[in-house]
Amino acid sequence: MARYVIIGGVAGGATTAARLRRLDEKAQIILFERGDYISYANCGLPYYLGGTIEERDELFVQSPEKMRAAFNIDVRVRSEVTRIDRAKKTVHVRKVDTGQEYTESYDKLVLSPGANPVKPPIPGIDSPGVFTLRNVPDMDRIEKAIKGTRAKRIVIVGAGYIGLEMAENMHRRGIFVTIVELLDQVINVLDFELAAEVHQHLKSKNVEFYLNDGVTSFSREEATRREPSREGGGIRVRLKSGRELSTDLVLLSIGVRPDVALARDSGLEIGSSGGIETNAYLQTSDPDIYALGDAIETFQPLINRKMLIPLAGPANKQGRIVADNIVFDNRRRYPGTIGTAIAKIFDLTVATTGLSEKMLKRENIPYITSITHSSSHAEYYPGASPQSIKILFTPGEGKLYGAQIVGYDGVDKRIDVFASVLKNNGNIYDLQEIEHAYAPPFSSAKDPVNIAGFVAGNILEGIMKIVHWHELARMSPDEIFLLDVRTAGEYRSGTIEGAVNIPHTQLRQRLDEIPRDKKVVLFCAVGQRAYVAYRILVQNGFENLYNISGGYTTYQYAVQKQSNEDVFEHERTRNSVAVRKKRD
Ligand code: FAD
Repeated sequence: MARYVIIGGVAGGATTAARLRRLDEKAQIILFERGDYISYANCGLPYYLGGTIEERDELFVQSPEKMRAAFNIDVRVRSEVTRIDRAKKTVHVRKVDTGQEYTESYDKLVLSPGANPVKPPIPGIDSPGVFTLRNVPDMDRIEKAIKGTRAKRIVIVGAGYIGLEMAENMHRRGIFVTIVELLDQVINVLDFELAAEVHQHLKSKNVEFYLNDGVTSFSREEATRREPSREGGGIRVRLKSGRELSTDLVLLSIGVRPDVALARDSGLEIGSSGGIETNAYLQTSDPDIYALGDAIETFQPLINRKMLIPLAGPANKQGRIVADNIVFDNRRRYPGTIGTAIAKIFDLTVATTGLSEKMLKRENIPYITSITHSSSHAEYYPGASPQSIKILFTPGEGKLYGAQIVGYDGVDKRIDVFASVLKNNGNIYDLQEIEHAYAPPFSSAKDPVNIAGFVAGNILEGIMKIVHWHELARMSPDEIFLLDVRTAGEYRSGTIEGAVNIPHTQLRQRLDEIPRDKKVVLFCAVGQRAYVAYRILVQNGFENLYNISGGYTTYQYAVQKQSNEDVFEHERTRNSVAVRKKRD
């Protein structure tokens, strides 16, 4: 009878255990989890805190008892594996409650210990009131603190997916949210111009946020007369910019680091990105030990390199593969993770798959990008909403590298289509050919995915040259003629400085107003009318033409003010006056 031991009982570990049992009814399967809970929904934690998930119990997919009953798995919670003896093929286990230690032997061992939230050595980071969110006890502590302090304010440090999901959920609960982000944008995996749409959305939700700013210290502050309800006072957050924020709670969400302590201590290979190294079968440098989930570095097939991609989908799928490989002796290779992710950020949906422009630049890989704006479904059918799509592809054959979408409805299905094309090594012509299900409430006869493919095809084939919003600033105003082909009304309500307006419908009659000795840079709202105008001009002998990718919509999002410190300046002034008065 085989003996399988699994370390870590949540996403990756519990999936592996269940699949192992389905494949091998006779094996002895022991699952160690140092916490109280197994198989719960980490991804649901922000939504319980925000009240969307009303019942705490809903978060638990399995309990140790149910897992024992349904799968005959020996689940041992509050049991931490402290050491692996690879020579003897045993693990040392410490009972969290009693400190008692014992050993268990294994034939095959599975590591799914996950990751730990990053906590840099900032003064005061361990103060009460400063939280991270990784598991159910973290969630319970935050809930208790919200209730205990009757929290009115939270500072969220780090604007990744978890930080922004928490921002939405705290806001939903009536707590005033301040976000502090070290970079010049939220959600680092997005490129700037799409993140800029998220910035403008956050502004519309009365969320205070600071970009290009970081925390230098946290300290406790006494209860003020102004807010006597705060038991023991609040927290003072000092920022690099010199700003000081006064808050009831802080959530640190600045990323996670793979938990590799056990693996490292037992001499298993750790990869250059800091995760446990595994081969294509998810086997570590010890053939009897497999590893998966957030703790490993995973193969990114688009750049042929190992990376950290901590996501629940890959962890769950890897669990099945590990179980199959244990039982059927390395039958299945893990194809790698391309990094497909999605989040709801207030009313927006933000999704990415594959490589971003930032990554491609870092890797020195040549690429072309194209931005399109489409409607979620036929515009004549009520309820259509805009979607911004950015795709990246190779200059030669148009092989797809990645896609990013910011929108409202239908973002999820489009990103999944892009991800499928990417996974299958597809190119922009495959996007043109996607045969989607169409009726007016769901899409248009040409789906936004098709449109992204058509525009990319035009760029690749030289039917249309494009310029990006950030390249415009580098062009000398003397060498370009900026042509706004929208209507006179649209032009009057805002345009790019220096642009001349000739609506595309009048262009054929007004060709002599356009210089032939300059670069003509055309734009409209999203790029479509400018494309029509472009083709009119080309066929009238104009040569040096460029369409602004994503049009005025993308330009406007990207060039406007991104954060909103000015809006909340008076709040800070008022708070510091209150504190100064108290000190005096
Ligand atoms: P985990 O699920 O973290 O499980 C690891 C377990 O191992 C832990 O319970 C830990 O206690 C236990 N353990 C570690 N060491 C030991 C030891 N020595 N002995 C015993 N037990 C040990 N991903 C998405 O794709 N989409 C989302 O929307 C999403 N939202 C998220 C929201 C939040 C708030 C969080 C925290 C994560 C979210 N994730 C999301 C990420 C996702 O939850 C992780 O990628 C996934 O849980 C990784 O699974 P894992 O098995 O590697 O680690």
